[in-house]
Amino acid sequence: MPRTALVTGANRGIGFEAARQLARTGLDVVLTCRNAEAGAAAAGRLSDEGLAVRVEQLDVADATGVEECAARLRDAGVTVEVLVNNAGVLLDEGGAPLDIDDELLRETLEVNLFGPLRTSRAVMPGMIERGYGRVVNVSSGAGQVTEASPYAPAYSTSKAALNALTRQIAFGARNGDVKVNAMCPGWVRTDMGGPSATRSPEEAVDTIIWLATLPPDGPTNGFFRDRRPISW
Ligand code: NDP
Repeated sequence: MPRTALVTGANRGIGFEAARQLARTGLDVVLTCRNAEAGAAAAGRLSDEGLAVRVEQLDVADATGVEECAARLRDAGVTVEVLVNNAGVLLDEGGAPLDIDDELLRETLEVNLFGPLRTSRAVMPGMIERGYGRVVNVSSGAGQVTEASPYAPAYSTSKAALNALTRQIAFGARNGDVKVNAMCPGWVRTDMGGPSATRSPEEAVDTIIWLATLPPDGPTNGFFRDRRPISW
């Protein structure tokens, strides 16, 4: 039986490419996105390539919606063994650190921090119980506290918090073969990264796929770029 991978924010950008590459490796993929029509369109593109995926509506900023999505999957007998927390927002590129707006920071944290927390809470107990799981948190070098820069202060803060959460969740998943890691995809040509970015989505997802399919002796509780550890 192939394992099942759930990807958030998978209708476009890095999430879409991750869903595609995971499906190509032979995993069953649950392509989730907050807009059902966009999900259907993305699944249609994959279907044209001969890749069948299951689509689920999932807004990670909606706590109830995350629980409902998890319940729908349970009812359908789908067990999630790989979770790729990819959905993210960048709302304050170029913003000034002392001008961080409360509401903007809350909105950013809802997606970039609470989103991965909610999805992890929904599917990780099952992983721990079954003794197998791979969680990949798509973070950013902008969240490195050791190399901090004033780029997008609310976004950077949210990714630093996501890194901290990654570590906590990894500590909480020590039983069995459950691995929790964060990664930075580099600067990627997506709607978020813009057309001048240096990497294609195909290049960017390599580390995601690696972490999603790690062997039992692979790393956990780490932060990676290009399959190499980077500082938190
Ligand atoms: P895009 O803006 O191209 O795509 C973002 C995705 O996240 C979209 O599918 C979007 O859905 C989804 N999303 C946003 N909010 C929610 C929500 N509340 N619930 C569910 N889905 C949501 O960004 P990228 O593909 O470039 O980024 C993907 C990840 O990679 C992000 O976490 C980002 O921070 C990270 N990253 C990207 C870099 C880059 O250079 N591009 C660099 C470093 C990190 P919708 O279509 O509905 O808006």
